[in-house]
Amino acid sequence: MSNEKKIMKVKGLQIINGVANFPISWLNKHGYCEYSIYLEHHKGIIVSPTKEMTIGSKIHEKLEDDFNEDSIETTFSEMMELSKSEDLLSREIWVISTKYGIHGLIDEIWMTPDEFIIIDDKPGHIAYTSTINQVLAYCLAFKEIIGNDKRKIRAALRTRGTDEIFWNIDFDDKAEKNIIKLLNRMQRLFKGETPYIPTNNPRKCAKCRFNNYCEYKK
Ligand code: SF4
Repeated sequence: MSNEKKIMKVKGLQIINGVANFPISWLNKHGYCEYSIYLEHHKGIIVSPTKEMTIGSKIHEKLEDDFNEDSIETTFSEMMELSKSEDLLSREIWVISTKYGIHGLIDEIWMTPDEFIIIDDKPGHIAYTSTINQVLAYCLAFKEIIGNDKRKIRAALRTRGTDEIFWNIDFDDKAEKNIIKLLNRMQRLFKGETPYIPTNNPRKCAKCRFNNYCEYKK
């Protein structure tokens, strides 16, 4: 009999090719407090979205509407081909990695003959580890999708509703190894092979949506 543990029942998780596949946005929750994922997705506790989340969704919709007014509809493969000779911009690109168990929508991609810049829009202008992990996961899934195209990939964070890129790096071997390490940990969490760790930061607990339900609240 195999010793491999089964993936536990987790709300919002899909099993694709035997691998737990989760929305890349969960890495934000993970960076805030790993245990909040347990409360929301294993225990199924439902709480209202924060004010920041609601504002973020509205700004996101407005950006999308503005972009759609001037955009030309095309296919992903047409864009890939065209971008070998000219600069292109695309929004809301769906990516999935069945290998690493992640999926999500990339806010914006700049495609040029030399490189791809993967942009994630965030409120404010601080590059938190959680937001960095999120954009690196988008890069990893994008890399899997483009296959043999060897153009460089850059990860960038931009202040939502502005043109201000406040952080960017090359998605190099080191960045790729770091994000794969975290994604492997997520898989172990889903299988119950390692426990979800609550934060030690009382300021996070004070603002946490789940603090009325959490036995580890500081
Ligand atoms: S209350 Fe604190 S420990 Fe509990 S889930 Fe929220 S942030 Fe984590």
